[in-house]
Amino acid sequence: MTRDARPCGPSLNVKLPIIETAGEKRILPGLLDLSEENLRAWLAECGEKPMRAGQMRHWLLARGAASFDEMTDVPKALRLHVAEHFAPLASKIAKHQVASDHTHKLLVEIIDGKLVECVLIQDEGRRTACISTQVGCGMGCVFCASGLDGVDRNLTVGEIVEQLVRLRNLPGPTPSPRPPKGEAVERLTHIVVMGMGEPLANLANLLDALEVATSKDGFGIGARHITISTVGLPVKIRQLADLGKQYHLAVSLHAPNDELRTKIVPTNDKTGLKDILDAAAYFFDKTGRQVTYEYVLLGGINDEARHARELAALLKGRRAHVNVIPFNDVEGLPYRRPTIESLRMFTNTLQTGGISVKVRKRKGSQIDAACGQLRRSVIQG
Ligand code: SAH
Repeated sequence: MTRDARPCGPSLNVKLPIIETAGEKRILPGLLDLSEENLRAWLAECGEKPMRAGQMRHWLLARGAASFDEMTDVPKALRLHVAEHFAPLASKIAKHQVASDHTHKLLVEIIDGKLVECVLIQDEGRRTACISTQVGCGMGCVFCASGLDGVDRNLTVGEIVEQLVRLRNLPGPTPSPRPPKGEAVERLTHIVVMGMGEPLANLANLLDALEVATSKDGFGIGARHITISTVGLPVKIRQLADLGKQYHLAVSLHAPNDELRTKIVPTNDKTGLKDILDAAAYFFDKTGRQVTYEYVLLGGINDEARHARELAALLKGRRAHVNVIPFNDVEGLPYRRPTIESLRMFTNTLQTGGISVKVRKRKGSQIDAACGQLRRSVIQG
């Protein structure tokens, strides 16, 4: 899905997403698909000052610009030249939905016409971006809309960062005072990598994108405010742990034993709970960060008292926190939400078993905000 791009000089060899002709129209890659270093090199080859790279990226990442025209401190001739080779943002917003709780959901069309979803959750002063890392998902969790058609491809660094830009540029819950000239209106405070795809299956691109998210020249979000949610790939969890970053790790467990987990999360067949929990313990040792376990509660499947007791026993003695997520209905799937009684019983049983537990609040339910559902409703018409 990439080709070598040498748009302005013979020696630069930068991997970019597809730059092909669509009929007569040329599709340009996004400026954010080049790292700052590569953009500096590209500018130098064009005989331009490399420092313009930081200036232009700052306009997109910090100041909310969506066009080259807005970059008023960049010479016009350079702006025109760059615009011949790059789009300021390569993605388009194909659909935008807003719920009454100020949750926004964007269906984003990326460079090859594929669709990905991202969500902005606004709550108690927090602005949390929920972002995707892949088109589709290859993990095949039976209750999840994202993986119903498998995985198509990994998102590029620029495609992940553009989701943050798009979400950050959305309005806050209350009209804010006018920001200083050229500054973005609102900041993002948190990121959850819980959109479409398995983040650890696209770890290199995700990590580069999160560098931009945490950098003071990017979004300036603290690593401790960033949660990476994984189906549980032990080797990748250990790789992430070895980086020593302060990202928060959430592991999607969904069952207290291998037999049930493999039915709900087919990849468990290859990994097994023990390897996942050992890798999570390694993550805690290396980073000092407590791991969260996500448990989607599926009515009549994994929501009984015996499941809660078994889960408490499994996690006892580990530094663990459980996030219980009542299943969000997915059209066409035979699963159902747990009853209020079984939700209460499940969390109480965990607490009695000495486990710290929270139920995830439901946000943006009017707008198909659960994983993969908006894209599906559009693709299926
Ligand atoms: N692949 C990663 C991240 C994406 S999904 C992972 O498995 O963790 C983020 C979380 O949303 C996961 O815990 C996932 O199991 C959950 N999820 C997916 N579909 C859901 C649904 N229909 N209802 C409730 N939670 C869902």
